[in-house]
Amino acid sequence: MKYTIAIDGPAGAGKSTIAKLLASELNILYLDTGAMYRAVGLKALRENIDIKDTEKIDEMIKNIDIQVRYIDGKQHTYLDGEDVTHKIRTPEVSLAASNVAVIKSVRLKMVELQREIAKDMSVIMDGRDIGTYVLPNAPFKFFITATPEERARRRYLEMKESGEKNVDYDIILKDIKYRDENDSTRAFAPLKKADDAILVDNTFMTVEETLSKILSHIKGDGVNQ
Ligand code: C5P
Repeated sequence: MKYTIAIDGPAGAGKSTIAKLLASELNILYLDTGAMYRAVGLKALRENIDIKDTEKIDEMIKNIDIQVRYIDGKQHTYLDGEDVTHKIRTPEVSLAASNVAVIKSVRLKMVELQREIAKDMSVIMDGRDIGTYVLPNAPFKFFITATPEERARRRYLEMKESGEKNVDYDIILKDIKYRDENDSTRAFAPLKKADDAILVDNTFMTVEETLSKILSHIKGDGVNQ
């Protein structure tokens, strides 16, 4: 049985952690759509394009080559042939991604690529507009969220654990609030819970509890892999 699972929510809610665990539990593909917007953001930064210059971005997006490949089961994101999987994880690229994601031509191109990937196989996608726009007919939709403070706390710990120095909780919180606002107020395909998505506020839940809640919905609906 081919099926799709849409997971949306704001930055730092644990979407990718949960989506990866679900994908491995259900043995289906995981697509991190944020990585694609990050690759576009990286290109705009590298080419010094003013994010507000929609015409320049439109031009850039016409010729961009974004590809997703899986190596040892892990997603690698390619920008114009270069593996940028790690380079897209900086705070600068997070902001650039959120800014370019407002532009319609960028979204149309990314959505086309995402739908192409979901065409022939079971896939779990996480992002901001998967349940509302990319895969509106997905049989399973979840909107995962937590308070901005808790999301910032998680990001802070994650960055500390990965050995980063100069990690500042207040800056992370400010960045999260900026991206929340940017993502939810854009005109085209904003961050929004789909009417038929199940809301999971995991502010006071562990990863295991969140996963088990989501899995019980999916398995309760007859998926038993
Ligand atoms: O999920 P992640 O933090 O990697 O996403 C980076 C940015 O890409 C988000 O802040 C959001 O602006 C944008 N994005 C989006 N739609 C998606 C996935 C990500 O607009 N489906």
